[in-house]
Amino acid sequence: MKELTIGIDVGGTSAKIGLVDEKGKIQKKTEVKTLKVNNWKQIINEYLKPIDQWLAEGINVNGIGIGTPGFINKKTGELNNAANLPGLLNAPFVDYLKDKYKIPVIADNDATCAAVGEHIFGAGKRYKDFLMVTIGTGIGGGLILNDRVYRGADGYAGELGHIIVVAEGRGCTCGNRGCIEAYSSATAIIKRVRDGIKKGYITTYDKVDPKKIDAKLIFDKAQTGDPYSLEAVESAARYLGRVLGGIVNLLNIESIIIGGGVAAAGNFFIEKIRFYLVQVAWYSLTHNLKIIPAELLNDAGIIGAAALLFEENL
Ligand SMILES: [Zn+2]
Repeated sequence: MKELTIGIDVGGTSAKIGLVDEKGKIQKKTEVKTLKVNNWKQIINEYLKPIDQWLAEGINVNGIGIGTPGFINKKTGELNNAANLPGLLNAPFVDYLKDKYKIPVIADNDATCAAVGEHIFGAGKRYKDFLMVTIGTGIGGGLILNDRVYRGADGYAGELGHIIVVAEGRGCTCGNRGCIEAYSSATAIIKRVRDGIKKGYITTYDKVDPKKIDAKLIFDKAQTGDPYSLEAVESAARYLGRVLGGIVNLLNIESIIIGGGVAAAGNFFIEKIRFYLVQVAWYSLTHNLKIIPAELLNDAGIIGAAALLFEENL
């Protein structure tokens, strides 16, 4: 019988869990609540209920990949830093799953999973060296170098969101000031527009319910010429382009793949990022550089987590 790989995309409120085939297609999926308890086994056991059900149905599973926010230590498989998953902090859940199911289990940061997912099944298939940037609530990064995922000494490499772009700049959720995440994430773009409305200088949102102001609306309005929305998007692209330009100078990658919620804006945002990137990176390193949107959009988290197993067998 065909073997399938389980991908678990863990988040602060829920985990998305799916069965992925060898082509990266999801065969079954479900969503399970992340219990707000200080007992990691209880949280994990809740995630395992649909998996146990699938196994009881006779589905042949060859491994489990897990993506989480925060830092996964590559030696211990433990989550060493996780603001919105306190219950799983430093918990040996990878060993627990290996013990329970006797199959390979790999965990990694969700942006690294996104990079691996694109590398195996998506826009990154064509490239040996690329940076994955996920732009949503925060900003994440994952690196593929020389056709393999690059994890660094402890497993934490690619942590793009907290590169400082303005010394003593805006406060960031991490406690530092001036991180790129505080300037170019969807959260930062929305905040900029909301602040402008509050101060009274943004007037083109008068007919919009304040609760409905999200990144998609801002990008839509920017594309139709609303000057305030355009300025918010432009500002995000300017800071991000500078940071990415520095990374291009450092690594001479072939491609940058933009994923996450903001990626849905596609080339409109990407062209702006490129405009600012080429101003700070060397021509020799940018004239062949491709900046492209991610291909795995829906369920990228599940597919990316499962792809960790495929990456291991390359
Ligand atoms: Zn930060």
